[in-house]
Amino acid sequence: MQNIESLLQSVTTGSTSILKTTNNKDSYAALDLSIDNKELATVDITNATDCESYIQQILNKTNSTIAFGGYLEKRNLYAKNANFSKLEEAARNIHLGVDFWADAGAKVIVPVNGVVHSFKNNAVFGDYGPTIILKHTVDGQTFYTLYGHLALSSLNDMYVGKEFTKGAVLATLGTAEVNVGYAPHLHFQIIIDIKDYMGDYPGVCTTKDLDFYKKNCPNPNLLLKM
Ligand SMILES: [Zn+2]
Repeated sequence: MQNIESLLQSVTTGSTSILKTTNNKDSYAALDLSIDNKELATVDITNATDCESYIQQILNKTNSTIAFGGYLEKRNLYAKNANFSKLEEAARNIHLGVDFWADAGAKVIVPVNGVVHSFKNNAVFGDYGPTIILKHTVDGQTFYTLYGHLALSSLNDMYVGKEFTKGAVLATLGTAEVNVGYAPHLHFQIIIDIKDYMGDYPGVCTTKDLDFYKKNCPNPNLLLKM
């Protein structure tokens, strides 16, 4: 059996875009939302509007259309959310996916052929909002990709087992009202063993659980090669 990381690397060639804005050509800016980013000392990133204008500044400065980053980033983004209000929950601040920040309505593009494993509107404030999980089987090995913070309409014609080919439009990005409470962005995460989760999977973890999640949720960039 092939090592999962080399399998992920082998299923795409070159830079693989999973978001398309209304601009003719997208260009990317790396975004640091970690607790180490000194610029964030004066920005309340838990406020969707403030977070969005900070990101817009970065995009303007770099002449880019999509800001991205965040794998294993330690963030101050979750502590205030009701969903993470308990003390131990507030410690769940290490981000397990990559985020792509762009305008609401941007199209989410499937990076690898797959079928719908599950989908759900995780509507509690601070959660994913509308979410789709695809299942991919390559050379007899299975992995999953999760797409969070989508528009509600993205779930309309969805059904378990629906097939998507690489390059197809899966969904569009939701607004802060539906996504639930964040500046518009796609949360993209790879999951190896999904257990019984349906339409949902932890997108952040504690330092204590990091070893497990790091293995079970490998770097999305193995696939995307950004
Ligand atoms: Zn995220």
